[in-house]
Amino acid sequence: MWIGVDDTDSRTGGCTTFVAFQLVHRLISTGFSVIGYPRLVRLNPNIPWKTRGNGAVAIQVSKGVTSDIQIGLNKDTKLMIGKTLDHMTGDVDTVREIVCSLIEEYASFDDDNTNPGIVISNKLLPPHLYQNAIQKIVTIRDVVEELDGLDVWYKGYKNQRGLIGASAALSWNDTMDKTFEIIYYRDKNRWGTKRMIDTRSVLTMDERCPSTFDNYDRENHHLSIAPNSPCPVLFGIRGDHQEPLPACGSMIEAEPSQGWMIFVTNQATDDHLQRKKIESIEPYQSVITKGTVCKKPFTIPGGHVLFTLEDEKGKTIDCAAYEPTKQFRNAIRQLEKGDIVEVYGGVRKKPLTINIEKIAVHYLIDVAEKIENPLCPLCGKHMRSKGKGKGYHCKGCGTKEVNPIVRKKDRLLSLGFYEVPVCARRHLSKPLKRMDDS
Ligand SMILES: [Zn+2]
Repeated sequence: MWIGVDDTDSRTGGCTTFVAFQLVHRLISTGFSVIGYPRLVRLNPNIPWKTRGNGAVAIQVSKGVTSDIQIGLNKDTKLMIGKTLDHMTGDVDTVREIVCSLIEEYASFDDDNTNPGIVISNKLLPPHLYQNAIQKIVTIRDVVEELDGLDVWYKGYKNQRGLIGASAALSWNDTMDKTFEIIYYRDKNRWGTKRMIDTRSVLTMDERCPSTFDNYDRENHHLSIAPNSPCPVLFGIRGDHQEPLPACGSMIEAEPSQGWMIFVTNQATDDHLQRKKIESIEPYQSVITKGTVCKKPFTIPGGHVLFTLEDEKGKTIDCAAYEPTKQFRNAIRQLEKGDIVEVYGGVRKKPLTINIEKIAVHYLIDVAEKIENPLCPLCGKHMRSKGKGKGYHCKGCGTKEVNPIVRKKDRLLSLGFYEVPVCARRHLSKPLKRMDDS
């Protein structure tokens, strides 16, 4: 039996993964077993009304023998993974009660943006529910209609928006690309206070655990394993494999935690991206689109760098490296009119702009750069400029010339990928470190 849960968190606290952590503990202590790793599924990152991380969770429950694989620790209880897939006849009501009471206990119902949803199903749901929730804007009505046609039990609180994520988490196919995250949770009496994490221990862990990623931003001195919100998460370490994560986590010197759990997740997979022609790009999608730089990048107030991309049909779209992307903007500023690139990023509605997550440079155009004014062929002296773009003339004999003396400009970019720094990376963006492997 599968349980999907979403939208229990708020901007000011709470966290859907913490509800999953409590849920796993409660199910196991009631005599159920949890099959496989709990899922943490990130949804469309461009949705304007999302709560913090826009992540839903799902757990597979059964009854039967547990294995010797530990998926978590809650205070003194080791959370072990279940082994067998027995039928759950008669236990469905108990599971429902456990889930509902937990949501009602932990969800931030006072927040207008918190609209929890629970979906319980005997099997995974059709894959398009996930595809839609990660790449499009999905309406609550469409999802409810779909759920009504499936053999599932569901409960949506308030405006029921959580049903979108809850069903998406049950529809994700984790046999494709996936990663893992071990999340540590703070003691309740510390929630909302400053997190105590020793940065040096994070740097050491980062060096010794090569299958983990996005731990620390060395250029911007930003600790990326810890959130900034008052939520119950102490820190989370992401990695390609689950086995090393508890050992990596134990290398972090930090305040005592109440426990940890490992999630299998769609983070760092680029699942949100779809290849699109410029003409068919719509707001709130995340796209990969190829074109020619038709307007040299320029910086606007606030430090954002913008340029315009054009396809072979002459369709254009603006692309932006916003200020929080820091050093990445230096690479973007080096682009020239005529370069061919492929842009990866989320689409803002107004004005329609791609918020660049990474860029692949496919072709660098030769650029002529002026070194000095032309020489007069008669007098041998440098000519004078008649004003920008108006050409040159010789003061002595009046000879005219259009072009200055030029040389081929050194291009500071290379072909290949450039990505935003760790501090600006989105949950779903695949780091280049992972792209080399796949
Ligand atoms: Zn002359």
